[in-house]
Amino acid sequence: MQPDSDTNRTKINAAGTAGRILKKIPAFLTDQKRTVLSVYGRIAAACSNATDLQKAATAVLVLVISIVTLVHETNALHSAKLQDTAGDRDRIVMASAAQDAAESAASEVLQSFMSMELWDARAHLESDLNRQTASLRSEYMKILDRGEGDSFHPGSETERKLWETVRARRKKELSEDPYLILVNKWHYLPEDYEADPVTLPNGQMIGSQCFEPLMKMLEDCAEAGGTPIVCSGYRPHDKQVYLFGEQINRWLYAGYGQEDAEDLAATAVAIPGTSEHELGFAADIYSSENMSLDESQVQTFTQQWLMENCWRYGFVLRYPKDKSDITGIIFEPWHYRYVGDEHAHKIHEAGICLEEYLDETDHPDHAEDSDEPED
Ligand SMILES: [Zn+2]
Repeated sequence: MQPDSDTNRTKINAAGTAGRILKKIPAFLTDQKRTVLSVYGRIAAACSNATDLQKAATAVLVLVISIVTLVHETNALHSAKLQDTAGDRDRIVMASAAQDAAESAASEVLQSFMSMELWDARAHLESDLNRQTASLRSEYMKILDRGEGDSFHPGSETERKLWETVRARRKKELSEDPYLILVNKWHYLPEDYEADPVTLPNGQMIGSQCFEPLMKMLEDCAEAGGTPIVCSGYRPHDKQVYLFGEQINRWLYAGYGQEDAEDLAATAVAIPGTSEHELGFAADIYSSENMSLDESQVQTFTQQWLMENCWRYGFVLRYPKDKSDITGIIFEPWHYRYVGDEHAHKIHEAGICLEEYLDETDHPDHAEDSDEPED
């Protein structure tokens, strides 16, 4: 914190007062000392008119030297008083007055110094505190990047407040990143969302934003000996609505009521608005050697290569093993989601799913969901 201008002015005034007193150095001093002290006084007075602290501090410094000299001289005169010679009497009276003036000036200077030390002390404390806060902030960010937000408990009340601020700010920032839009059965596709799909060489579609990284990933995978094929990319919302409606009709036709038919439909097709394929940032990729979208994909070289390397292209394996209770979707060793290079790297390094990375693992109906549908 900068000292406020009032305090600053008080300080400068103190130096100025002391400077003026010194300019009136009494005649009892020898010529030489009087000259030296009056020069000091002029410097101090000149500096006291300055508006910056460094000059005011210089004034204070020269005054301290002046006053030490003055007090020393006065003491010498007091010794002379003991002899009480007529010629010394006037000088002794003047010396006493000069000593009083010097003491008063010294006291002002001292106060001035003390307040300066207080500023320094406060500035030090504040910079220490800022350092500590910065280091805590970065520690908290690492915890959150590792998806460990729920298990972390800050040590003190002050830390808790900082933790909550950092957590909320990170969440807000991530929620504004277009590549990190969370779509699952607890988070519907934003109503005003507009995908920007382009067509892949095999006729499937994908969001234009991740077309290039996807193509590069497929090429590199093929070059390494894989046989990747995108079997499902962008899926328009209307199509998802159509597919879901078809499923409901199937169950209605079989004699189920509307609610049951919807529940049953949701086990086979994602409820419209909850499929990542509607975003345009998701691609189901299988190996041409195994076209079954099931766990057997893990056995293929293509899938092993993709799972190990997708983060280098900004993609993550969206529904990892053992994360179904958080993602709401079964283990899908074929569904890749584009999140951008930085986030893909962090998610890969931490070995977590997107929900954990986004600090969005609290699901209201968590306990009720025992069966995870495919997307
Ligand atoms: Zn998929």
